[in-house]
Amino acid sequence: MKFEDIKLTKPLLNALNEQGITEMTPIQEKAIPKVLAGTDVIGIAQTGTGKTLAYLLPILRDLKFTESKHPRVLVLVPTRELAVQVASEVEKLTEYMSTRTIAVYGGTNINTQKKAVYAGCDIIIGTPGRLYDIAMTGLLRLKDIKKVVIDECDEMLSLGFRPQIQRIFDLLPTKRQNLLFSATITEDVDELVATFFRKTERIIAAPTGTPLQKINQVAYQAHNFNTKYNLLKHLLTEDKSIEKVFIFVQSRVYADILFKKIEEDFPEQYGIIHSNKSQNFRLRMVREFKENQLKGIVATDLVARGIDIDNVSHVINFDLPDQRENYIHRIGRTGRAQSEGNTISFIMEDDQKMFEEIQDFMKLSIEYTPFPEGVEATTKLIPLEEAPDLNDAPSLLNPKHSVGEGSKDAVSQKPVKRNIRPIEKKIERKKSRKNKRKK
Ligand code: AMP
Repeated sequence: MKFEDIKLTKPLLNALNEQGITEMTPIQEKAIPKVLAGTDVIGIAQTGTGKTLAYLLPILRDLKFTESKHPRVLVLVPTRELAVQVASEVEKLTEYMSTRTIAVYGGTNINTQKKAVYAGCDIIIGTPGRLYDIAMTGLLRLKDIKKVVIDECDEMLSLGFRPQIQRIFDLLPTKRQNLLFSATITEDVDELVATFFRKTERIIAAPTGTPLQKINQVAYQAHNFNTKYNLLKHLLTEDKSIEKVFIFVQSRVYADILFKKIEEDFPEQYGIIHSNKSQNFRLRMVREFKENQLKGIVATDLVARGIDIDNVSHVINFDLPDQRENYIHRIGRTGRAQSEGNTISFIMEDDQKMFEEIQDFMKLSIEYTPFPEGVEATTKLIPLEEAPDLNDAPSLLNPKHSVGEGSKDAVSQKPVKRNIRPIEKKIERKKSRKNKRKK
């Protein structure tokens, strides 16, 4: 179905045409009429399915001009990068409209953002912590909000944003339309919906755990950092189809070590983003990658999530993620919209269980590709493999401890080493011990 077949305004259709966007994606076909009808909507959709336009288009169609300073649309997102990205999508769509949009997020000067809020806006996009802080100054009035969007809700909750979301919702008027988008519907998401939403419509773009169809997935067995690096170097040198690549690693320290090696072998061709880098540095990296000045980016899970970059030919899982859902998010970086994508995973002995879990989750199996001849499989470990640096991952000791990954205002983070059992398992074990004692 085409956008011109639904009731969008001329300025919106013109803006879409300029971007060469004419046909709706499945989530857009399903969500737009429901959002236009005013129902609360829960969209199960991964990044790359067109979910942002699925909520922005109907919202913008109904947004009337006003001189009021107070926003009428609120979009909550988990990370700074996503805030910037959604704001830029709004800007592209409202080129022929007089919509005022502001993005607020942690890690940057709050005063500049406060001034912008004071000047007035129609749409405010933000990470929950910073948005709440600004609301508390009294500068941001949320009582005029008519539509609220929670984007990447599962990620927002796994970052520990539940209290901030609760406080923000307490400031909203009761009569409003709620829209929620999430790649996976976890128990936490369901609980949030039960608390804040009215009668909802659920829309599924792709069933939970199903990877985007057009992604070719391969895996190699490689048993330590150096072997994985030899393989990576070989692929980046020999495989000419790798034109634009995201390389995912498990933690900031590993990201730094890997980036240093890549920089030695491929100077100035690759970038790095993780939470210890300044906001300006991160935005510059994303921009340079977008503009093809960089061939690839080494990234940790959190900051890379939701970043929409066209034509990423490959996602390389240098390390597997700790949670199977993150695998889906990672591979969603490639094969965006209508294009094809490729994922290459490096699997160590420790990863086997997670790798099987991921395959079960996706309901497909990935055969190992033989290790390429001529690439050295070494037994030499790097110091970090011999003595893990717990400072990089306090969450190893206490998964509720923030290590500052992602937005500064996130209060918890997932464990980052896969051989440590997640806190849920510990709780389960405790419960079962308790139950046994009771019996
Ligand atoms: P999202 O899932 O919102 O992150 O969108 C992923 C990418 O798909 C963005 O670059 C959009 O501009 C693009 N996109 C969204 N809808 C369409 C569409 N109907 N046709 C082509 N590209 C689209």
